[in-house]
Amino acid sequence: MTKKPKLTLGSHLSIAGGLHNALTAAREYRCDCVQLFVANQRQWKHPPLTAVQIDDFKQTREATGISPVVAHSSYLINLCAANEDTRKKGIAALMDEYGRCGELGVDYLVLHPGAHVGQGEAVGTAKIVEALEMLFTAYPDPDCQLLLETTAGQGSCLGHTFEQLANIINGVKRQWRGHEGNLPLGVCLDTCHVFAAGYDFRTPQGYEKMISQFDEHIGLSLLKVIHANDSKTELNNHVDRHEHIGKGHIGREGFINLLTDERINGLPIILETPKGKSKGGKEMDLLNLAALRRLARL
Ligand SMILES: [Zn+2]
Ligand SMILES: [Zn+2]
Repeated sequence: MTKKPKLTLGSHLSIAGGLHNALTAAREYRCDCVQLFVANQRQWKHPPLTAVQIDDFKQTREATGISPVVAHSSYLINLCAANEDTRKKGIAALMDEYGRCGELGVDYLVLHPGAHVGQGEAVGTAKIVEALEMLFTAYPDPDCQLLLETTAGQGSCLGHTFEQLANIINGVKRQWRGHEGNLPLGVCLDTCHVFAAGYDFRTPQGYEKMISQFDEHIGLSLLKVIHANDSKTELNNHVDRHEHIGKGHIGREGFINLLTDERINGLPIILETPKGKSKGGKEMDLLNLAALRRLARL
């Protein structure tokens, strides 16, 4: 008899009307954890957080007990953009968001590593490493960990193989030699993205292969957050389209493999599945959360 897995489930929830509303909604949905944006993700610049916003957020977190709190960074950020102006804006936006996470007490900030847009993998990787060094130099002792997210490999996006993520992490580590153990850098694994990138974890053997590859290249201890999304597109299609849990090409078996793995027991598992229109997205989220709970018990 295997032990019942400990589930830490959450969803990406809206901050409309105030950042703390994502926490209140998470409680209503009976989530354990939550993901949110800490800034308007369609704009480069934002007014600083006010003391009231920070207070509201911290008090609501205390009252709801939602933990951990995960932030997702803006999709505008590309740390290896070919256009230097765009790249600088992205670095500044990331610095700003990381600062906000610190002020709010957010545990993890998830980032898509970047798209090299024809400059090649080596140049892209070097630029991402340089940008992350700048970030960690500006915030020498952060409480928030930055998590590089696995990507579907659409276009020239880096991060669709574990080797690529390892190259970035090892690049930053080299600069931190001696105290790389304290480097606030980890990984967020998105089930839809890794599947679209070619990792087939629908069978127990395939799942085991994927996890051992992750462990070999990155190290399982660096896996901090999981995005639970089924995939609208087929294996290795390099297209990023999220589907409801169990309804896409990953299907129930893939999620059972993940949810019953004791090695990832207790890690925050966050939905980014389609919300639909019903009850402001709540209905579909509740169904997907229930699906995860059900599959974890099988
Ligand atoms: Zn994701
Ligand atoms: Zn995605």
